[in-house]
Amino acid sequence: MKNVVVIGAGTMGNGIAHVFAMQGYKVQLVDVSEQALSKAMATIEKNLDRMLRKEKIDEAGKTATLANITPGADLTKAAANADLIVEAATENVDLKLKIFKQMDEAAPEGCILATNTSSISITKIAAVTSRPELVIGMHFMNPVPVMKLVEVIRGYATSDETLNTIMELSKNLKKVPVEVNDYPGFIANRILMPMINEAIYSLYESVAGVEEIDTVMKLGMAHPMGPLQLADFIGLDVCLSILNVLYDGFGQDKYAPCPLLVNMVTAGKLGAKTGEGFYRYTPGSKDKEVAPFFKK
Ligand code: NAD
Repeated sequence: MKNVVVIGAGTMGNGIAHVFAMQGYKVQLVDVSEQALSKAMATIEKNLDRMLRKEKIDEAGKTATLANITPGADLTKAAANADLIVEAATENVDLKLKIFKQMDEAAPEGCILATNTSSISITKIAAVTSRPELVIGMHFMNPVPVMKLVEVIRGYATSDETLNTIMELSKNLKKVPVEVNDYPGFIANRILMPMINEAIYSLYESVAGVEEIDTVMKLGMAHPMGPLQLADFIGLDVCLSILNVLYDGFGQDKYAPCPLLVNMVTAGKLGAKTGEGFYRYTPGSKDKEVAPFFKK
């Protein structure tokens, strides 16, 4: 396996391209947005510079990694020589089904089609392709170059061979793969999202303020980041999509997204990527303060 295509150059796509390219794979990074592509290339370079400063790579490693990534907008062209395609586009069922149909038509026979979806059914995505045995979930964690886990999700029709290939490949990327079956939210988000939703409900019901909730979970449970800051970091639109998948998939009220989360997404306050969520962020700095809405 040599040629990898990554679809979507947002928060996750740039990190996925980074880790493949660092291990010598030729990566084509595809996005419909020109702006997302240039931002992704700048982010990859910035993250490589950080690794250089920490002496995790040398100058030659940085140059080789960047040379392994080709950004572009044409999925069909990029997929023509692919051994593996990892889809990391926006978390939206209809969009993913459309992209998988396109990928299936454009990719050569035998090419594995993986998705980085946080929650959407692998079985459902596989069913729109002519190769469900070659479709699998490859759920990286954010930030991809730093986080060790890859949740590898086996759809109903995923073959043993595809599973074994992706488990081995994840190890080649210096990650730790964990095999999980295909049920809503898999493991990571089935456990994480109800916790984040409960933290938002606690804020909505005025049990405590933003910083207080995060401090309780950081100091009390030894979490490196509080749940509200983590939600901002993941993206509040992504959190809402995942909760909706859990709610629809299990049909249980405990997964219903908090109305405050719904309002924030409707208002375009999506967290760190838009500069404001539960906190307000200063561009280019690690500084943050509680968002004005929650200071009232
Ligand atoms: P994002 O919004 O940062 O980026 C999504 C990108 O997809 C955008 O740049 C958008 O232009 C692009 N896109 C949309 N339609 C496209 C198309 N037809 N072809 C090519 N590109 C297209 O989203 P993200 O946070 O990077 O999430 C991507 C995927 O990764 C989602 O499935 C999400 O659930 C999953 N995920 C996210 C996180 C996280 O912490 N954000 C963690 C694990 C998994």
